[in-house]
Amino acid sequence: MSASTLDKDAIRRKYLQERDKRLRADGNQQYVQLKDQLAHYLEDPYTPLKPRAPRTSHVTFAFIGGGFGGLCTGARLKEAGIEDVCIIEKAGDFGGTWYWNRYPGAQCDTASMIYMPLLEETGHMPTEKYAHAPEILAHCQRIGRHYKLYDQALFHTEVKELTWEQADARWRIRTNRGDDFTAQYIGLATGPLHVPKLPGIPGIESFKGHSFHTSRWDYEYTGGDPLGAPMTRLADKRVAIIGTGATSVQCVPHLARSCKQLLVFQRTPSSVDVRNNQPIDPQWFASVATPGWQQRWLENFTANQAGGNAEVDLVQDGWTDLARRIRAAIAKLPREARTVPNMLAAYEDADYQKMEEIRARVDTIVQDQETAARLKAWYRQLCKRPCFHDAYLQAFNNPNVTLVDTDGKGVERIDETGLVVAGKHYPVDCIIYASGFEVGTEYKRRAGFDLTGRDGLKLSEYWSAGMHSKHGMHVHGFPNAFFVQPTQGANLISNVPHNLTEAARTIAILVRHAREQGKREIEVTKEAEDAWVALMLTAVGRMTQSPDCTPGYYNNEGLDPGPAARLNVGYPEGATAYFRYLEAWRSKGDFEGLAFR
Ligand code: NDP
Repeated sequence: MSASTLDKDAIRRKYLQERDKRLRADGNQQYVQLKDQLAHYLEDPYTPLKPRAPRTSHVTFAFIGGGFGGLCTGARLKEAGIEDVCIIEKAGDFGGTWYWNRYPGAQCDTASMIYMPLLEETGHMPTEKYAHAPEILAHCQRIGRHYKLYDQALFHTEVKELTWEQADARWRIRTNRGDDFTAQYIGLATGPLHVPKLPGIPGIESFKGHSFHTSRWDYEYTGGDPLGAPMTRLADKRVAIIGTGATSVQCVPHLARSCKQLLVFQRTPSSVDVRNNQPIDPQWFASVATPGWQQRWLENFTANQAGGNAEVDLVQDGWTDLARRIRAAIAKLPREARTVPNMLAAYEDADYQKMEEIRARVDTIVQDQETAARLKAWYRQLCKRPCFHDAYLQAFNNPNVTLVDTDGKGVERIDETGLVVAGKHYPVDCIIYASGFEVGTEYKRRAGFDLTGRDGLKLSEYWSAGMHSKHGMHVHGFPNAFFVQPTQGANLISNVPHNLTEAARTIAILVRHAREQGKREIEVTKEAEDAWVALMLTAVGRMTQSPDCTPGYYNNEGLDPGPAARLNVGYPEGATAYFRYLEAWRSKGDFEGLAFR
C-alpha cells in the first residue's frame, strides 16, 4: 500500500481516539511498589542464598550491577591490566536482566551477533539469529569465567551506602550483607528496567490463588523450564496473564500450549511483526567472523538504524527495516524539499505504511475477526516497544486461549477467586503479571541507594532538576565514579549493549591513564559538564516521547514528565556520530573536560 492510498486523516484520528481512551491522571502512580505485603514478589526463585563473610578489604574497582554493563567493564579493565575488580550484584549470579527473566520463550529482539557482547573475545558463536534467554545467561556466565570476574564477585548483595571519602580519595561501600570496604573507583550499571511493578488494580492483594511476576517465573508451580519444556503442572489450570507487552508476547504461546485455559488480559495491543528466527550456520559464521567482525557489525547496525549512511545492512531486521523505509521516503523528496516538516511528514508516511502492514498481518493470522480487530495496534510504531513473533498471534486460534480486551481501561478489579472486566468475573487458579518494570522513577528509588559525593553532596539532590553529566558517564562532584548507561551518550535504545561496550572501553582507558600518570582522582570539570548539558539541550526529544503517542513507559504514561525529562536525551547528531566523536575524544589522549589529580 502506498502512502498516497492511505487515509492519513482517518488513521491520525483513530490514533488519537485510542490514545484518549488510555490517558489517566495517575500516570506512573497507577502502579504499586513491591514492598511490605507485596515484597515476596521480589524473592529470587532461582538461586538459594549462600552465607558468606562480609568483605572489608579495599579493591581498586567496585562495580555495582552484574549485567552486561558490569561484565563488559570488568572485562575491559582486566584486559587493561587492572586485575582487582569486584562486581556487586543483587541477584544470585551474573546476567542482570537475563538472570531474572527466565520466563518460557524469553528471547532477545535484537540480533545476537550485535546484542551479545564480547563474542569475539570469548570465541562464542550464537546458535540463532535471535538468541533465547538461557543462551544469553550462559554467555554472561562465560564472560564472568573468561575474565575471572567470579573470583571477587559479591552476589545476592545490595549496596546501601556509597560515600566519597576525600581524605583517601576512595569510595566507601556498605551493603545489606554487612560488607564495609573501600574502592578507588566505582562503576554503576544498575539497569533501566529491573524493578518489577504490579498494576494498582483494586483488590490485588486479596487474590487467594497463585500469582507471580514474569521476572520471577515460578517453575515449581508451572512445571517446565526456561528452555521451553512443557509446563505440565498447568494442564488442569485456568491461568490469567495481565499485560501484552514484549514479555507477554513471548510467553503467551508457551502458556497456550500448557494451560487448560489461558485468559490474556489486554489494555493496549502490541505491534507484532514477523520474527523469522533462523539457526546460525557455522560455515556462514566462520566466513563473517574474521578479526574485528563484531565491532564492524555493531557499527553497521547503528549506522543503519541511528543516523548513519551504511551501504549494506548486515543485520537486516525489524529495526533496520523501519529506518530503511524512512530514509527511502526522505530520499524520494527533491533536494530542495528536504525541510524538517517535509522530512517529518515522510517519516510519518513510512510509519503509517509499516503499521498498516502490521495490522493487516493480524487479519491473515487470527481466525476470529473480532479477536483480530482487538489485537491491532493503533499508534505509531515507536510509541511502544515494537514486538516480533511468529507464534503469538497464532496462539489466539487455540480453543483454550481467550483474549479479554479491556478496551484500554485495564483490569477493573481482582478478588479472592479471579478478575473482573466490564463487570464480568473471570475465575482463575493463577495470575501471571506481565506488567513490566519501573521506569521514570528517580534514580535513588530504582538503584536502592543514593551516592554521597564530595562535601556530602547527594546525587539525588544534584540531579533533582534532571541528569547532569558529561557523556552520561562523568558527574561533577562524584570523582572516580562512572555511570554506564545510554542517556546523554549515544542513547541507542535498539541495541543497549553497544552503549555499554563503548562505555567499558572508555573506563578502562581512563583508569589505565590515571594509573600511568600516578593520579588518584578523575573528575569532570563543572564547565565541561555544563557545556555537555547545554549540547544535550539542543537535541530533539525522541518521537516516542510525543504526547500524541498512546500512553506507556516510553512517554511517561502520556503525562508531561516535567522539565527534568528534557535532559533524558542523547547526542544531538545521533548514535553513529556520538561513537565517532567518543573515539576521537579517547584517541586524542588529553580527555578534554576531565581533571586528573
Ligand atoms: P511492559 O511495560 O512493556 O508491558 C506491561 C503490560 O502490562 C502492558 O501491556 C500494559 O498495558 C499492561 N498493564 C499494565 N497495567 C495494566 C492493567 N491495570 N490492566 C491490564 N494490563 C495492564 O512490560 P514487559 O515486561 O512486557 O516489557 C518491558 C520491556 O522489557 C520491554 O519494553 C522491552 O524493552 C524489554 N523486553 C525485551 C524483550 C526482548 O528484547 N526480547 C523481551 C521482553 C521485554 P499498557 O500497554 O496499556 O500500559
